[in-house]
Amino acid sequence: MGHVTNSTDSEELRPAPRVVIIGGGPGGYEAALVARQLGADVTVIERSGLGGAAVLTDVVPSKTLIATAELLTTTESAEELGVYAEGNHDAASKLRVDLGIVNRRVMELAAAQSRDIRDRLDREGITLITGDARLRSPDEVEITTSDADGNSDTVTRAADVILLATGASPRELPTAIPDGQRILNWKQLYTLQELPQRLIVVGSGVTGAEFAGAYNGLGGDVVLVSSRDQVLPNEDPDAAAVLEGVFRRRGMEVLSRARATSVTRHGDRVVVELQDGRTVEGSHCLMAVGSVPNTDDLGLEDLGMRLSASGHIEVDRVSRTSVRGIYAAGDCTGVLPLASVAAMQGRIAMWHALGDAVAPLERRNVTANIFTAPEIATVGYTEADLDSGKIAGKVVTLPLAGNARAKMLGIRDGFVKLIARRVSGTVLGGVIVAPRASELIFSVALAVEHALTVDDVAHAFSVYPSLSGSIAETARLLHPTMEDTD
Ligand SMILES: Cc1cc2nc3c(=O)[nH]c(=O)nc-3n(C[C@H](O)[C@H](O)[C@H](O)COP(=O)(O)OP(=O)(O)OC[C@H]3O[C@@H](n4cnc5c(N)ncnc54)[C@H](O)[C@@H]3O)c2cc1C
Repeated sequence: MGHVTNSTDSEELRPAPRVVIIGGGPGGYEAALVARQLGADVTVIERSGLGGAAVLTDVVPSKTLIATAELLTTTESAEELGVYAEGNHDAASKLRVDLGIVNRRVMELAAAQSRDIRDRLDREGITLITGDARLRSPDEVEITTSDADGNSDTVTRAADVILLATGASPRELPTAIPDGQRILNWKQLYTLQELPQRLIVVGSGVTGAEFAGAYNGLGGDVVLVSSRDQVLPNEDPDAAAVLEGVFRRRGMEVLSRARATSVTRHGDRVVVELQDGRTVEGSHCLMAVGSVPNTDDLGLEDLGMRLSASGHIEVDRVSRTSVRGIYAAGDCTGVLPLASVAAMQGRIAMWHALGDAVAPLERRNVTANIFTAPEIATVGYTEADLDSGKIAGKVVTLPLAGNARAKMLGIRDGFVKLIARRVSGTVLGGVIVAPRASELIFSVALAVEHALTVDDVAHAFSVYPSLSGSIAETARLLHPTMEDTD
């Protein structure tokens, strides 16, 4: 039936539009809340747990683990700041982690968050079905459910609007299949009871860098296998250079231009073979080589839905797929693999489908953060966009080392980078490398979203002393001058 618009006078006479959502991650559950708010009859079908991979295996567990690592890395500067354990002048190095306790906390927190989401959807009157869903037609979803004894049943649900929010799964190399014990994907890490003796992380993208940093921060011996010249190949190169420097200083072994071809287990050891013939040995290996969309077995090809070569569902900026009435959000679309983006795509889909006011997704304004120590937060255009001529403007980078608060806190690594148009001074983008950069970036995100100028930013008061003072200072340095022409 497709697109539904709200009416005014005859609203009570019309049945509520039926919205069926496949997938209970952020793309799905945030959309469900919006659809309910707009008066739809909403069903969410989820095969494992509410909150999706984001809550149960990916974002929440990893960031909870990283919170413990962060606590430990913060104590690195303890000695410099004059802090010692009683009777021991080597306090920081004596802190140890009990990974069993950490992982128990991680799993409890994830389960509690999933329960909270389920309760919220229940309270809102959203129907939840546990089962595996696939499309039967553009307005009918088939759901396979199983009871505790393993008997399965199939039901169908008619829909006026369908949202696909099925997420993605870890990519596997046929020569490095995880066994869940020594060769692991990121979902299997939380069964570990003790720090791996030597953890080899294959892949230096965001996921690989976050886990390598976390296990190193927790006190583990970590080798990071990176196929590129530098870690985080898709990020700001200056930020990646700072992080790689910090990793090496903390004792992590970073192997650059090292492409892993296979991982094999030999008893309690793992061996990673590299393309150039070298081998790396460790006790465990984490595979972090990207993900693949969960778009098989959904019946999409039968409906003629357009998918990319990588299997992602093609969507426009209001989350419409190529099939009328069917929307898609989140990692199954490959727009940007972030929970915040999945949630926004899901909400946009419902605003659009149910006739509410909607603005298309502005991908450029998405704020992202890499949860390493220091964190790397980004928003808007990049320096690479400037260098390639995609945008005209100028860039200023200010190291944090000169910031008074940073000195007091013992922070030496990191910087603030802002990019702005020359004549108008409009802020186009920024990068912050700092502890809690994820919090600091919001002021830059506001400037980018609302097209504020560097003078707007510089004229706002920042606290003295504060790390955010460096954002104001960078903006001041970008003040348009007589020489500036676009
Ligand atoms: C290690 C790691 C850390 C991350 N950290 C962050 C972070 O800090 N911040 C951030 O913004 N993003 C982060 N991400 C990305 C984030 O996890 C994803 O972008 C987000 O989970 C996408 O949400 P989603 O709703 O599209 O999919 P998911 O969260 O994957 O949810 C999809 C759900 O659909 C269900 N499903 C699939 N197929 C079917 C079917 N046929 N029938 C019924 N149910 C089905 C699945 O069981 C799953 O629960 C991280 C990713 C990883 C791997």
